Amino acid sequence: MNRRTFLAQTSTVALAASLAPSFSQLSAATPTPAAGPTYPFAVAPLAYDAAALEPHIDAATMRLHHGKHHAAAVTALNAALKDQPALHGLTVEQLLRQRETLPAAIQSAVRNHGGSHVNHGFFWQIMRPVGTEGAGGKPGGKLAAAIDAEFGSLAKLQDAFNANALKVFGSGWAFLVADQAAGKLRLTSTPNQDTELAATDRTVILACDVWEHAYYLNYQNRRADYLKAWWNVVAWNVATRRYV
Ligand code: MN
Repeated sequence: MNRRTFLAQTSTVALAASLAPSFSQLSAATPTPAAGPTYPFAVAPLAYDAAALEPHIDAATMRLHHGKHHAAAVTALNAALKDQPALHGLTVEQLLRQRETLPAAIQSAVRNHGGSHVNHGFFWQIMRPVGTEGAGGKPGGKLAAAIDAEFGSLAKLQDAFNANALKVFGSGWAFLVADQAAGKLRLTSTPNQDTELAATDRTVILACDVWEHAYYLNYQNRRADYLKAWWNVVAWNVATRRYV
């Protein structure tokens, strides 16, 4: 696979895409400088009704998750940055990449709340009501071919992704990323709100929130059932456009 086929400056693009109402920016994005929202950060409205992912993801979970959990992270991120005007021109991805050079007092806030902001912003985009943006369907284009070549089939990818997501101890995220250096798809996971979305050498294709708040109201402790249901609302058209 030609590494040039991957999106340039993927993290910039991913952020813009994850927070923008449309993914049209993907094809229009320029490599530099980093574009995207800066302080004060805000939670973008969902592109669909909170109940539109039912029965797979219930409305109460979506309202709480988007309107409270994600919102709390953004509030906390903004609070941490409030007295740091020198950082107000940076995107959240830039902040995450520069985290270790930031004032010590805000490093944890940037890691946890900044990570939460990009993770959740992407998560809302990669899910769609069944019948829209490929949800309930299959990947297409080069992504479909890569999945078949590297995992054997979509079902095998899903099994492997779910197994990887089940291995996340406690709270975290499961990802499917396109690794530029290796030129292939890879399953990864992160603890807490650590994110793959700020990386510059890989493009996040899928991300699934496996914190209990993402599923506990409807699935209680049954993460496996949540994961199985989650595939029904994966926006394959969005994923396919991210793998070019
Ligand atoms: Mn969450």
